[in-house]
Amino acid sequence: MQLPRFGKSITTERVPALLEAAEQATAALEARKEELKATMPTAALKQLIELYEEASRNLTLADSIVDALFSIDTNNNEIRNVQSQVNRVSTDISSRLLFFNLTLKSWPVAELRKHSKQLPQYSAWIERLIIYAPYTLQENEERIILYKDSTGDELLRKLYTMITSRYTYTLTVEGEEKTVTRAELGQYAMHAKREVRKAATEAMLVPFTADHAILGEVYQGLVEDWANEHMKLRNYESAIASRHIANQIPPEAFEALKRVVHKNRSLFREYTELKRKALGYEDFTRYDFAAPVPGLPEEIEYEVAKKRVLSVFHSFAPWMASHAEKIFNDGHIDVPPAKGKRSGACCYGMIPGETPVVILNFTGMYEDMATMAHELGHAVHDVLAGKKNTDLTYHPPLVLAETASTFAEAILFAAELKESEPAVRKALLCQRIDDIMGTSLSQMRITEFELKAHELIANGASAEELDVLWAKLQKEDFPTIDYPEKSVYWSAVPHIHQSPFYCYSYAFGMLLVLSLYKRYEDEGAAFVPKFEALLAAGGSAAPAEVLGKLGYDITKDEFWEGAFAVLRKHIEELSTLVE
Ligand SMILES: [Zn+2]
Repeated sequence: MQLPRFGKSITTERVPALLEAAEQATAALEARKEELKATMPTAALKQLIELYEEASRNLTLADSIVDALFSIDTNNNEIRNVQSQVNRVSTDISSRLLFFNLTLKSWPVAELRKHSKQLPQYSAWIERLIIYAPYTLQENEERIILYKDSTGDELLRKLYTMITSRYTYTLTVEGEEKTVTRAELGQYAMHAKREVRKAATEAMLVPFTADHAILGEVYQGLVEDWANEHMKLRNYESAIASRHIANQIPPEAFEALKRVVHKNRSLFREYTELKRKALGYEDFTRYDFAAPVPGLPEEIEYEVAKKRVLSVFHSFAPWMASHAEKIFNDGHIDVPPAKGKRSGACCYGMIPGETPVVILNFTGMYEDMATMAHELGHAVHDVLAGKKNTDLTYHPPLVLAETASTFAEAILFAAELKESEPAVRKALLCQRIDDIMGTSLSQMRITEFELKAHELIANGASAEELDVLWAKLQKEDFPTIDYPEKSVYWSAVPHIHQSPFYCYSYAFGMLLVLSLYKRYEDEGAAFVPKFEALLAAGGSAAPAEVLGKLGYDITKDEFWEGAFAVLRKHIEELSTLVE
């Protein structure tokens, strides 16, 4: 059977009209630039915001359509041409619209609030401007930072990528020497045999060790630039403070999350002991975290996977299944791998009112079913968020962006677990707990590393001191596992270079969903409409506010403990299967 590809509605034919509409809205807004004053009537401001939104909505849709089409056919010249045209228009219009945001940010807060109160549909967007106002500099200073960044931290990040993406890695696999890329090396790091995983881990460190002095200098430069801009110039309270503001997370919620993860570290230690038994090993080494536990079903047919995912969605809530079905019915899904198609899977939310677009690379592996559930979860989130929101408040904040997708995986996992044989259950549980550990404990450890590294570098620490720090944090999490006194491993983590303090959002997202799942187990059907409201909120309010309205306080340890109650249950079940 042929797997579905995009239908006729995903076409570049729509693009010229969208660009034209964006251009007209931009010109209309520019023509009314003089009206833009803090004391202007709210009704007139509303018209201007609508023009701004109209321009950005049309650009977003044009951009999403060409990007989706490009993803499934990267060698197509016609699509590439349309894409560069969209990029050109988009850059031009974005720079012409810059004045709008900057002017509003420069208004007195009291005036902005007055407008915000009368424009509830835009208030979340206006409130964001108010939050950033104290950290925004004068227009000239902002321009200096903009220009200097392109040859400053942006260049350092680019150099990091250029240096490290040239690396190849040499290892011996079953007597044969191989030289591989980082992606291929990743496969060997999850190999069934420990000696291969060990060889892969050691091979990875070789080029990073050779370039340690250069890479250390790059990271120190990035951290110092971050401190100079965020703390010295913009007056953020701490190195991580600007990330909390971008994530719309109160610092207390982050602290609660960190505390609860620390408190529950012993659960992961317990798990490694069970995994050791499941693998039939004498001991558990640092190379065994990524070891696969055999027993997962090997293959699944597309139609079976689709039916399974939709039925799991349906048993959670009929609306969840019907929103997902719309993606298939509208031909907004592209399923099979193809020549020139990008690897991986994704979902484009498009704009409110448009059916989202999902791209998969379904090869019939069992894991492909979870990926399908994940991306359809994103699509359901987008459909619901698009119902009441305008384009400016449509997208959920980063830490909530994976809520529906991760939840969809969680309910699929629960259903699969319930209906599987014991040997499969053992493998499923190990895979699930590995995933939870990788997205929570490991990502929090990276964040701890950054917090400490930023402090150390401010006091003139050397790259070797960071090596010691990295090793120390590993040992704190797993004291009984043998680990060297220092490690350059941190230098191979792209996120800490590309986007400081980003990694805790992964932990936040995963543990939030597990905590919500615990509520679902406790509350049953009463939870479903709350979850629907959470998704429908989109970006209309900060996470603490949206969740607070549903009775969940993310600044309290108690909320996050729910996630570990779910984990504890998994570990107990695994223990009965292994012992
Ligand atoms: Zn996702």
